[in-house]
Amino acid sequence: MAAQITVNGDRFVEMISERRIKTAVKRLAKEIDRNYRGRIPVFIGILNGSFIFLADLVREVKVDCEIDFLKLSSYGDAKISSGNVRLLKDLNCQVEGRDIIIVEDIVDTGLSIEYIRHLIEPQNPRSLKVVTLLFKTDSVKPGTQVDYIGFRIPSDFVIGYGLDNAQRERNLKAIYRLHAKPPREKAGA
Ligand code: 5GP
Repeated sequence: MAAQITVNGDRFVEMISERRIKTAVKRLAKEIDRNYRGRIPVFIGILNGSFIFLADLVREVKVDCEIDFLKLSSYGDAKISSGNVRLLKDLNCQVEGRDIIIVEDIVDTGLSIEYIRHLIEPQNPRSLKVVTLLFKTDSVKPGTQVDYIGFRIPSDFVIGYGLDNAQRERNLKAIYRLHAKPPREKAGA
């Protein structure tokens, strides 16, 4: 049976083990190495959720690279996207002429990626690609372009490996999904 944890009264079930995450990170790093041979890409981690994935990914990648961060806010402490993306920290690096790789922990609606594209494209990068560990196939806006995907998952709320539950549980080594509560049976039914 999959491992379970209870956080603030909510039950979470292990969805992707530490071992499977490691394998996926290695696979993504290999694909990136193959495509960026002879280049020095800039990995841009989207804070806060991507910090663990970014740290693991860049240590698997063999090409020389630079690292920068953007901080966005869309979820706040809620479990559903607010639909509003705000920029909380801008880039420090020069984008023009560079090979940019956006590093996301998860693509849900795709609004954050769309926002980032509109922010970066006018700065004339040489190329702009997106890597995400998790991709929610059912909730993503059609046409959202993501170039490297670790796992395609349903629209469950997930935590761990950088992803928070109201700012906590980012340090879990595996990824857990919120266990849907069965609908309450009607009294007397
Ligand atoms: P999007 O803009 O694609 O809807 O959402 C992207 C951001 O929402 C992610 O970077 C992440 O911070 C947050 N997010 C989306 N789905 C989840 C989830 O299942 N769990 C957590 N903790 N955050 C999520």
